Amino acid sequence: MSKSEGIVELVKQYVMNTYAPDVAIVSGSGCKVRDPEGHTYLDFTAGIAVHNVGHCHPKVVKAIQTQAATLVHCSNLFYNAKQALLAQRLSKISLGGKCFFCNSGAEANEAMIKLARLWGSEKGKYEIITMQNSFHGRTLATLTATGQTKVQKGFDPLPIGFAYAEFNNLDSVKAAINEKTVAIMLEAVQGEGGVLPATEEFMVGVRKLCDENGLLMLCDEVQCGMGRTGKWFGWQHYPVKPDAFSLAKAIADGVPMGALVASPALSDVFKPGNHASTFGGNPLACAAALAVLDVIESEKLLEQAEKMGALFVEGLNGFVEKYDQVLEVRGKGLMVGLVVEGSAKEIVDACRDMGLLCCVAGPHVVRFVPPLNIKESNLEEALEMIGDALDEHFGSDSE
Ligand SMILES: *Cc1c(COP(=O)(O)O)cnc(C)c1O
Repeated sequence: MSKSEGIVELVKQYVMNTYAPDVAIVSGSGCKVRDPEGHTYLDFTAGIAVHNVGHCHPKVVKAIQTQAATLVHCSNLFYNAKQALLAQRLSKISLGGKCFFCNSGAEANEAMIKLARLWGSEKGKYEIITMQNSFHGRTLATLTATGQTKVQKGFDPLPIGFAYAEFNNLDSVKAAINEKTVAIMLEAVQGEGGVLPATEEFMVGVRKLCDENGLLMLCDEVQCGMGRTGKWFGWQHYPVKPDAFSLAKAIADGVPMGALVASPALSDVFKPGNHASTFGGNPLACAAALAVLDVIESEKLLEQAEKMGALFVEGLNGFVEKYDQVLEVRGKGLMVGLVVEGSAKEIVDACRDMGLLCCVAGPHVVRFVPPLNIKESNLEEALEMIGDALDEHFGSDSE
């Protein structure tokens, strides 16, 4: 039995079967990972949009090592300077208000939902409008917020207080507003739903509906935030500001962390006792996140995401021209989806066999979210492997 097979066997025996994992990975560096047999893969999943600065970036490794030897955790019963410094930096690049820290995307959204409900509680408003095909997490409230029945099935009774509208359809959102509505929650670029950006008309229209009806505009930036799309946050591509937004995935380069970032008007809604997290914003996660912010700034990764994203999209568009079954390239920055006819999973598997890791976003979209500091040569290598995978899958004579 190979080392990989040994790992697979152990996982199958002792780890609950909530994912269908692929290859075993034991180490990573930049945009590459290795399996136990020493095969390397180009990693265009980047831990599902987590490693925006690449695997084991030396500055992040150093920050984690130093903090691990200093103070890993102290609880929120005590002041923690790293947390304050991180909150200050997130505030300065976004809404100018305050932050709450937790440990995952679902928790950040849960905090955002609680904030909206508490804010609306005096007026008896609690209902949150979310979008079909959205994804907001797996806790009971966030899976109810998620506009996909497949994640909700079997978990009834679901919490009340959510209504659904069609993404990029303002009339549908307008029709869902009633006297109980407190907020509209959406992703600037839907991730799991198929790498689908909001139109400018939609984002501006949602902001206007919120202003006219006294509602909060809440953005889930868990996947499209932290530079992924070429701006710090996905909503910054549009001439609007949300009232609050959530972060996780890339924020601390894989050290579990989530954050709720609020505008000044919402920054003091939570009072002691309203919300909490034992680990939230602990010094280890904050040190990692501060290093991530440093790297994104010093390596100019926002510009880089935009530039490399444009090159990648250009390359992928060649496949749209070449194959009838490759329908469209979409996304923003280095959050890129390739829409295909038939099974996206089969393309993902074919790419893996070529040495490129990518993942699906829904049944027909292949998702690519490489590290933002990817080199042009690695991008070209990936395009070659995607080309070979498509050739193998669709046949090279389909044009
Ligand atoms: C991944 C994701 C979540 C959930 O994050 P977890 O850390 O897995 O709880 C929420 N919203 C969006 C947009 C995501 O992509």
